[in-house]
Amino acid sequence: EKGRWDTIWLAGLRDDEPDTLFNKILAGEIPASIVKEDGKILAFKDINPAAPAHVLVIPKDRDGLTRLSKSTPEHYEILGRLMVAAGEIAKDESLGFGDGARIVINDGAKAGQEVFHLHVHVLGGRDFNWPPG
Ligand code: IMP
Repeated sequence: EKGRWDTIWLAGLRDDEPDTLFNKILAGEIPASIVKEDGKILAFKDINPAAPAHVLVIPKDRDGLTRLSKSTPEHYEILGRLMVAAGEIAKDESLGFGDGARIVINDGAKAGQEVFHLHVHVLGGRDFNWPPG
């Protein structure tokens, strides 16, 4: 299927940044508590939760998205998938989410980003302040 292989080839061109520990999670080399998965995204519990419920949602193929501000129109589809997955997780009472969640993307070290593989934080199970710290 031509379109698919073109996409994978272009993704390779777009992503020559170093791997992160999320690659090890994706490869099963580091254990993770997986809460949701499909062909494109993986969601797992944060190892150092900042709220009673804290899940990270990542693209399986980073495709250049070390951080959100690297996104281009080529990423419309995966960004939509990440957001829909985050919204589904945010209402999942079995994971400790209730009525209300904080969805966060830290973009860059100055914003607190430590892992340079785009990830959406879904936090819940408590109240949140605004503005964030
Ligand atoms: P960032 O600060 O936005 O880059 O978020 C990275 C997140 O990854 C932090 O909340 C960490 O607690 C989390 N994290 C780091 N290592 C692991 C792991 O091995 N499993 C699950 N979460 C992790």
